[in-house]
Amino acid sequence: MPDWVKDRTVLVTAAGQGIGRATAIAFTAAGARVIATDINEAALAELTSETGIETRRLDVLDAADIAAAVAAVGPVDVLFNGAGFVHAGSILEMKEEDFEFAMDLNVRSMIRTIRAVLPTMIERGGGAIINMSSVASSIKGVPNRFAYSTTKAAVVGLTKSVAADYVGHGIRCNAICPGTVESPSLQDRMRAQGDYEAARAAFIARQPMGRLGSPEEIADLAVYLANATYTSGQAYAIDGGWTI
Ligand code: NAD
Repeated sequence: MPDWVKDRTVLVTAAGQGIGRATAIAFTAAGARVIATDINEAALAELTSETGIETRRLDVLDAADIAAAVAAVGPVDVLFNGAGFVHAGSILEMKEEDFEFAMDLNVRSMIRTIRAVLPTMIERGGGAIINMSSVASSIKGVPNRFAYSTTKAAVVGLTKSVAADYVGHGIRCNAICPGTVESPSLQDRMRAQGDYEAARAAFIARQPMGRLGSPEEIADLAVYLANATYTSGQAYAIDGGWTI
């Protein structure tokens, strides 16, 4: 496996917890310079004190904040777009503003960050972009996930589009599509259902491997994709067998 990421600069969004946090740690272990960002400053402070990883507050809803972050950190070789939010509910249960928010955080945020780093990647002759999608997207219909799945399908679309436009410039753009992964927000979703144990059992039951994924398993795929110099425009399912 090439170690393309060694000594590269990696910008990770939503690195305060869950998959983003594990990804920041995995890229650091792979020898990259990582800038871990999030809106949760307390979580970032904890990450720095535990690992020494460079952190920075960054709100991916704010284009000016993104521009300032990119100017401050210098050329980005790897962009990991981790930020995303699960809206629960069907098309009839969703409010217009829920959809607007889901589009803003799950899709437009990635458009903003990619537009901010891509010109410099092109100038420097290459770069890797990794976007967090989900199997709940264009891959699989999942009950009660209308806004989420619609926006995560858009992430697959934008990934392929960027890959197609810039493949000749050495840019690789791929999406990761996890099944159910043990993360703080998943814990919140299980608690919100009232009966935590029943909710947990239901989430596990939809994974044929009989367990939830770990953030570290997803992070390993992110590092693999940054190093994988012969793949672009793909949506990689990593889902405990959910879509077999
Ligand atoms: P999480 O939901 O537990 O944490 C999300 C992080 O995003 C938090 O640290 C939060 O502070 C940060 N964040 C929220 N709004 C932000 C903003 N405006 N700017 C910057 N950061 C912001 O993390 P997770 O569950 O590991 O999910 C990470 C990604 O993986 C998401 O895109 C999610 O949709 C996707 N995903 C997760 C699962 C899962 O089962 N956990 C499955 C498939 C896909």
